[in-house]
Amino acid sequence: MRRLLLVGGGHAHVHVLAALAASRLAATEVVLLSPHARQIYSGMLPGWIAGQYAIEACALSLDALTRRAGVRFVQASCTGLDLAAQQVHCSNGDSIPFDYASIDCGPVAQALDLQDSAGHALPLRPIEGLVAAWPGLLQRVRQANREFRLAIVGDGAAATELAFAIHARLEAEGLGQARLTLIGANPAPLAGFPFLLRRQAARLLAGRGIAHRAGRVVVAVRADHVQLDDGSRLAADAALLATGAAAPAWPAASGLATDAGGFIRVGQTLQSLSHPCVFAAGDVAAYADARPKSGVFAVRAGPPLAANLRAICGGQALQPWQPQRRALYLLSTGGRHALAAWGGLSASGAWAWRWKDRIDRRFVAQFGG
Ligand SMILES: Cc1cc2nc3c(=O)[nH]c(=O)nc-3n(C[C@H](O)[C@H](O)[C@H](O)COP(=O)(O)OP(=O)(O)OC[C@H]3O[C@@H](n4cnc5c(N)ncnc54)[C@H](O)[C@@H]3O)c2cc1C
Repeated sequence: MRRLLLVGGGHAHVHVLAALAASRLAATEVVLLSPHARQIYSGMLPGWIAGQYAIEACALSLDALTRRAGVRFVQASCTGLDLAAQQVHCSNGDSIPFDYASIDCGPVAQALDLQDSAGHALPLRPIEGLVAAWPGLLQRVRQANREFRLAIVGDGAAATELAFAIHARLEAEGLGQARLTLIGANPAPLAGFPFLLRRQAARLLAGRGIAHRAGRVVVAVRADHVQLDDGSRLAADAALLATGAAAPAWPAASGLATDAGGFIRVGQTLQSLSHPCVFAAGDVAAYADARPKSGVFAVRAGPPLAANLRAICGGQALQPWQPQRRALYLLSTGGRHALAAWGGLSASGAWAWRWKDRIDRRFVAQFGG
């Protein structure tokens, strides 16, 4: 009996589990290792923060998916990988041997060299950490008897969408005493997105009183302020770290081939370039054709990954996969309105939000919610 070990219940692996539920692998034990019994679909997270969805509507049950697929679920994190012995080390102290492993554990929060940030800065990842902390942060805003200043460190897509979502939630609760500021190294939020989309986002942010501190890097987070790289301070009662995706340390430490950022280098079959018994997909992978870290590409990798894991376990030929060149980005702006980008094109409106809502709900429903 061979063993296939799935590390992480990410967007590509939920497709692998669904494919196994439809048709199991012969003579193969499949194990899923992931720290939580559910997978939060990040595309709906801003909507949860804004108060548009219950958290259950944004979550896939890994418990239910593994049961349907006949997969053994180990609720723990991978902490290390021993490639010579072909086993992973787990946060519960166990080690799990494998014949083939597939890694879809997502990124970690970018490790900023922040002084004394412990306890004051709230990172977006792990997402379960943010989900656990958000009600407490909201409660602090409700209880503040003066202006509550929230700094959002970052000005990319996740940071900007969260700023809109938080603003919408505070407005809905009548908490007008909050002041939101995005802080980023770029001249304007959403660097890399089409010009017209950036311009519209900037207008919407300004219209809602969400400030952008441009061209600055946060060097320290303290209890009552963040310190910027030019020596200035911005008063802040809380700081959210939305600074982008970094690779976990253990893949590179194990000796797997990684890119300069520590992301696992894979070929078109999604096999590691150095260890073909290891596959990787989603944000933790550095694809042969480089693509942005985005849920879209993690989701798209699911079907080819499922097919190639089935092929390698059955001794069949693996098929190459080339991710699509462009992805559709739909960024909600708090209410029932969203910005849309496709390559260099952009548009916006209530229709874009309805479209996003339909895509997101369909994704969760597809995997049994
Ligand atoms: C607020 C926010 C909004 C976003 N909105 C969008 C959007 O609208 N569209 C879009 O395309 N992208 C969006 N993104 C980016 C998107 O979240 C990521 O690109 C996507 O989650 C990557 O999927 P993944 O499968 O690689 O990893 P993840 O979705 O992060 O899943 C990884 C899984 O592995 C588990 N895991 C983590 N570490 C370990 C470990 N050591 N061992 C075992 N298991 C582990 C995790 O618990 C999780 O279940 C957003 C990100 C954020 C933060």
